[in-house]
Amino acid sequence: MHELAIAESVVDAVGERVGGARVTRVLVEVGRLTCVEPDALRFCFEACARGTALEGAALEIVEVSARATCRTCGARDAEVDARVPLCACGSADLELVAGDRLLVQAVEVA
Ligand SMILES: [Zn+2]
Repeated sequence: MHELAIAESVVDAVGERVGGARVTRVLVEVGRLTCVEPDALRFCFEACARGTALEGAALEIVEVSARATCRTCGARDAEVDARVPLCACGSADLELVAGDRLLVQAVEVA
């Protein structure tokens, strides 16, 4: 369950940034290729946030589909299935352009 490690690093990183201010909302972008389960992440986030500046903060998750450019047929920005990362032409020689990371996009403090 890597959601716990991710939740911990988000809580740590945001906590350091806000310098003690109380956080009310955190918006994260979750790429489908990260295989993060939004419900599990939310659960872990709440647990990790307890006793920190992020306690009680709302975690908003925006799921981002995986997109890639195909090096074989040149298709650009093609949507890729996270479990079967293949281009429609059958090639697996893809350059990912989105969906492979998790980013904190916005934080609101009280
Ligand atoms: Zn292709």
